[in-house]
Amino acid sequence: MALSNSLRQGRRLLCQHRGAVAVAITHHDFSTSSQQQDKHSFKCLIVGGGAGGIAMAAKLARKLGKGQVGLIEPHENHVYQPMWTLVGGGLKKMEQSIRPQSDVMPKNCQWIADTAEKFDPDNNTVVTGKGHEVKYEYLILATGIQLNYHLIKGLPEGFKADPQLCSNYSMFTAPKTFPAIQNFQGGNAIFTFPNTPIKCAGAPQKIMYLAEDYFRKNGKRDSANVIFNTSLGVIFGVKKYADRLTDVYKSRGITVNFKHNLIEVRPEKREAVFEVLESDPKETVTFNYDMLHVTPPMSGVDSVRNSALADENGYVDTVKETLQHKKYPNVFGIGDCTNVPTSKTAAAVAGQCGVLLRTISAVMKGKTPKPRYDGYTSCPLITGYGKAILAEFDFDGQPLETFPFDQGREMRTMYHLKKDIMPEIYWQMLLKGLWNGPRVYRKMMHLGLSR
Ligand SMILES: Cc1cc2nc3c(=O)[nH]c(=O)nc-3n(C[C@H](O)[C@H](O)[C@H](O)COP(=O)(O)OP(=O)(O)OC[C@H]3O[C@@H](n4cnc5c(N)ncnc54)[C@H](O)[C@@H]3O)c2cc1C
Repeated sequence: MALSNSLRQGRRLLCQHRGAVAVAITHHDFSTSSQQQDKHSFKCLIVGGGAGGIAMAAKLARKLGKGQVGLIEPHENHVYQPMWTLVGGGLKKMEQSIRPQSDVMPKNCQWIADTAEKFDPDNNTVVTGKGHEVKYEYLILATGIQLNYHLIKGLPEGFKADPQLCSNYSMFTAPKTFPAIQNFQGGNAIFTFPNTPIKCAGAPQKIMYLAEDYFRKNGKRDSANVIFNTSLGVIFGVKKYADRLTDVYKSRGITVNFKHNLIEVRPEKREAVFEVLESDPKETVTFNYDMLHVTPPMSGVDSVRNSALADENGYVDTVKETLQHKKYPNVFGIGDCTNVPTSKTAAAVAGQCGVLLRTISAVMKGKTPKPRYDGYTSCPLITGYGKAILAEFDFDGQPLETFPFDQGREMRTMYHLKKDIMPEIYWQMLLKGLWNGPRVYRKMMHLGLSR
């Protein structure tokens, strides 16, 4: 019953946002709207209309005026992905994370409802899926990161077979998570972290803490083994927050298995197979599961990965302090698609978009852009219903906290910031090009003594 409900919800959302699901599940078959495009040359062309693309379009359309900015994005809906943790925890509905793309597209920006298939940076041209050539003077890549469920044997088709198999990372499978938590009657509840860079590295464990809290509050905790199987060797990349999270998982009786990478799911037997990384000889271990939350392996999107703009790992090769491309000075990157060495989050996009505007403005004037980005990123680590640790840090893993108190503590205020305030900042400020991250507030709250 729960499975058919969540699949029904997924199917409805599939109709609303077909391309996103295709990317999440099969990685091809972007949908496009029937909108006709009349102009194929722009002063500034943006590829990708997610958090970074729309924020930059808003800033640049305001600066350059009508007709100067084009944006290639195939999906008819825009999604606020950070809300999917809350959807998985039963705190929000998937619909609340979705708005029509036309509502968030800045009015002076021309939306090209298509995909970018080929990049020819030597000739300042992008070729779209429908075969149009789009010319640019300046190009911004904001294509995000690709979900590769298919690299795990048994997925993505396993999602259809088992109601206890879920994943907050795609809009199709996130609505399955809360029913799986509710239906769980004891046994192994397993949460995974893959062996690749991912977006929001905190999300795989946030949903685990919510599930554990739910089991506790609903009398199921004694019969539950809550297990985090992570490919990493640490619980979190920044020591301060890793220490606090270690206290959290130990005090809650959660088992953490490091260096465990999910390679296969057998939904018919409810088995999950993990390779033990760095084992010699190679070792695999099979767990039975009664609930399995999968975070898939991820990569740069195929069209970028196969272009001259990518580094050897498939991400846009970007100067980390300016966001200018290392080889093509009229090309720039923002957000998850870049190889900027910081945690891939919408918060990082916010920290980057003000820097990128200044970089592009300098390049347009023939000046050398100044190094400004410090790697600011943030992760509101929800640790239960009503509590969160707000991690904020820079390139060096040094905390860059906005508030003048220790954010490493679990706090109700941080939970409400994540649940109630951040969505508004996203829709009303970031996407309108009005939010460059909390730097100004941080300085104010630290009486000018913070970076
Ligand atoms: C479950 C979950 C929880 C998260 N929690 C948080 C959180 O708490 N805090 C936080 O700050 N961040 C969080 N994030 C991460 C955040 O959503 C991303 O880091 C952010 O959206 C990155 O923005 P982006 O513009 O780089 O990519 P996206 O927003 O993913 O946008 C990329 C866009 O590019 C488009 N695209 C891709 N390929 C092409 C192509 N070939 N042609 C044209 N367009 C293309 C896609 O359709 C998409 O619209 C979370 C993400 C998930 C999934």
